[in-house]
Amino acid sequence: MKYVKCQYCGFFLLDSERVCPDCGHRNPAKPPSAAWGVMLPFLALLVYLFVYIITLLSPEYRINLLWFFSSFLGVMIAAIIAGRKIDKLQRKDKIVSKKYLSGDEANIHKRIDEIKNRIEKLSTVRTNIKEGKKSEKMKSMLVLLDNAEEMLLKYEGKYRAELWKIGVIRYKNTLEPVEHDWQKLDYQGCIDRMKDLKDAISRGEALKTTQTTDPLSKTREGKEVVRELASALKICDQFFEGLTARQAKLAIKDISPVDETAKKKELETGMDDNSLFNTQSDVSTFVSAFEELESEFDRLEAEEKLSVTE
Ligand SMILES: [Zn+2]
Repeated sequence: MKYVKCQYCGFFLLDSERVCPDCGHRNPAKPPSAAWGVMLPFLALLVYLFVYIITLLSPEYRINLLWFFSSFLGVMIAAIIAGRKIDKLQRKDKIVSKKYLSGDEANIHKRIDEIKNRIEKLSTVRTNIKEGKKSEKMKSMLVLLDNAEEMLLKYEGKYRAELWKIGVIRYKNTLEPVEHDWQKLDYQGCIDRMKDLKDAISRGEALKTTQTTDPLSKTREGKEVVRELASALKICDQFFEGLTARQAKLAIKDISPVDETAKKKELETGMDDNSLFNTQSDVSTFVSAFEELESEFDRLEAEEKLSVTE
């Protein structure tokens, strides 16, 4: 088992994985084939070159040069266009999964835009009401508007929190190769890995700052994501300790073959062989939870609790 990067989106996955959970592409470890866009024009070039050489070698085969080169140009352009089209189709065909992170991410952005649009409509109506006479009907309309807006803002927050969740899953995914098989590292391996870990920790801290300075972090959904990130960072700290212990053990081993204290310290960190981060399962949890939010929002729309009219 080895970690590989998805050639389409950069998500880390095991080389045994058939479909990328982030972008949904099949055979994610294989590079995207841009082959036909190059192959077809190249083939056309070869054929024309072959014909041209024959006409040079044998005076029997005379050709009209103008006709020859203009048809060559036409065929080349056609080959380039056709090749690109085939490549594009193949790439599209490679998205096999219906449930993947980037797909949901796109839907979330759509939803947020939709919600913002509606909030804007509400505020237009509100301006009208404020400019009009203060009748009972106007007052009750204002209450309706306020309720609708509150509800929309609540859902905007929920959808934004989903984006945060995706961010945390992607962050945790970058930790997987850093953590992979660390118990088997030699001394130099530990040093290299420590550098990767430090990078990962500072990226995580930066993400944490972005989240905690956002008012969304005060909501229930926001808090949940912040907690999730904090626990990932906590695992990083434990891992830092474990890796240091291993490094110490290997350094001491060079001096004395058996050192019980260092060995004991490594055990004390309580880390076992199990993978600390499993974003593949995080993705499936996310995807099903997101479906719930979507149907909740759809239901709400169906009940027209969000409508401006009447
Ligand atoms: Zn991917």
